[in-house]
Amino acid sequence: MVEPYSQLQDEETVDLRRMYMKEPKLYPELRRFATFKHGIRKLCLNLDFDSFLHFLKITIAYVHHDTGKPRTTCDVLEELPNLDGIRLILPGPNNAHGPRNLGPIVWHDTHPCPRKLHRMIYVRAAEVFVTFKDFVVENFFDELEEKSFNELRKITDLQARFTKLELNELYEDCKGGIKLDVPAPEVHSPRVSYLESYMTGQAGRAQDDKFPPVCDCDVSCHETFQWVGKYKESAGEASTG
Ligand SMILES: [Zn+2]
Repeated sequence: MVEPYSQLQDEETVDLRRMYMKEPKLYPELRRFATFKHGIRKLCLNLDFDSFLHFLKITIAYVHHDTGKPRTTCDVLEELPNLDGIRLILPGPNNAHGPRNLGPIVWHDTHPCPRKLHRMIYVRAAEVFVTFKDFVVENFFDELEEKSFNELRKITDLQARFTKLELNELYEDCKGGIKLDVPAPEVHSPRVSYLESYMTGQAGRAQDDKFPPVCDCDVSCHETFQWVGKYKESAGEASTG
C-alpha cells in the first residue's frame, strides 16, 4: 500500500531519484523528488581562510592536506537548483581560522599576507559565482581592496555576457542542428585569460607560486594586521599540545 504523498520505491523510482539528487538542474522534470535543500535560494558563506581556499578549489600553489574527512566544495552549488543569491563574508580577525586547523598553515613565517589570501578568494569567487546576479562580497580590509574587487567584477560580468552572446550566435548559425532537451554543459570561454592576466597583473600577485603567500605590500601586512601573528601562535600551540 502506498501512503498519501509517498512514492513507490521500485527500482526505476530509486534511479530517477538518484539522478535528480546528483544533478537537479539537468532534470527539472523530476522535481517531485526535491527535498528541503533544493528550495534554498540564498546562501551566506562565512568561512575561515583555509575553508574558503578549499571550498573554492583554489589549487594553484596550494597544497591541500588530506584530513581523511570529506570537505564541501563549491560543487555542492550544482545541487541547489533554486539558488540565486550568495553573500560572501571575507575572513577577518574574527573568522580567520576555524576551531580546528584542517589544512596547511596559511601564514608565511616572517611575511604573512592576508591581503593576498583575500585576493585569492575574491578573484576565484568572482569567477565561480559569475552567474549569480545577487552576489555580494563583504568584509574587505579597506576601500582599495573593495575597488579592486569591483573592477574585477566588471571584467567577469563582461566575459560572461560575451560567452552567452557567442553561444546564442553559434546556435543560430547552426541551422539544422539538434536542440538538446537538457541544458548544455557550462562552457568556459577562452576569455578566462582576462582573469588570469588580472590575477598576475596590475591587480596584484595573488597567485604566487609559493604558499603561504609572501607579503610584499607597500605597508607590510605584519604591521597592519596584528592578529595574523596571534593565529600562528595558537596554531603552533595546538599542533604541539
Ligand atoms: Zn601583504
